[in-house]
Amino acid sequence: MKIICIGRNYVDHINELKNNKPKEPVIFLKTDTSVILKNQPFFIPNFSSDIHHEVELLVKIKKVGKHIDSRFSHKYYDEVSLGIDFTARDLQSELKSRGLPWEKAKAFDGSALIGKWVDKSSFQNIHDLNFSLELNGDTVQKGNSSLMLWNIDEIISYVSQFFTLKIGDVIFSGTPSGVGRVNINDSLVGKIGDDEFFKIKIK
Ligand code: MG
Repeated sequence: MKIICIGRNYVDHINELKNNKPKEPVIFLKTDTSVILKNQPFFIPNFSSDIHHEVELLVKIKKVGKHIDSRFSHKYYDEVSLGIDFTARDLQSELKSRGLPWEKAKAFDGSALIGKWVDKSSFQNIHDLNFSLELNGDTVQKGNSSLMLWNIDEIISYVSQFFTLKIGDVIFSGTPSGVGRVNINDSLVGKIGDDEFFKIKIK
């Protein structure tokens, strides 16, 4: 199973990190060992003192595909979730400034939180979903999938030009603005609409 992540997919988040708007989707991968096991906390790793939360909509691939036309992308996923792309921002900034790959900052063990999976048929329109992240009870990130630069179907089409998508692969579709540091004893809750998709403690 692989995890394919999209960076810089919401204009408000591109602006907050002072990045340039990409001409094509920014893609990176997470390892299979990045996934946080069920009901486990997130442990702040010792190589970073600036771990950020990035709440993101996820889809799970249900069919093998390559060179998928975006008109048919919807046939490749049924389930939708919400997760966190935990990012060692200090390390990522250093790697970025040296022109090096981001993996150490993005794909480390425990860097991927995946919430519960829900069938897409339970939503009216997955291209218009409100989602949010609460940090210790305060809403810190709010997004709507209609504000993505590339929507889920376009992402699936794009990444399948490079990587064969396989059953069980997960796509992280990018974060809206409001990313920020997590600290020991924080608690994070992610919601699509009013429905809770995950709850996690920081240790
Ligand atoms: Mg992200």
